[in-house]
Amino acid sequence: MAYKISDACVSCGACAANCPVEAITEGDGQYVIDPEKCISCGACAENCPVGAPAEE
Ligand code: SF4
Ligand code: SF4
Repeated sequence: MAYKISDACVSCGACAANCPVEAITEGDGQYVIDPEKCISCGACAENCPVGAPAEE
């Protein structure tokens, strides 16, 4: 189970800076998580100011 970033993302970059496996990259209008890399550690959700990342 990987985490996924919702439309609430405001592209601040805090999640990408805190992801231990560099699974998060800046996409078109919001950041996106590569489900193949995500280890579901939850760091992105903890560091997001708008609660956009959630476990699928
Ligand atoms: Fe990266 Fe962890 Fe978020 Fe997955 S849950 S994208 S590994 S910070
Ligand atoms: Fe988007 Fe939240 Fe990541 Fe910022 S921390 S880029 S708002 S998902």
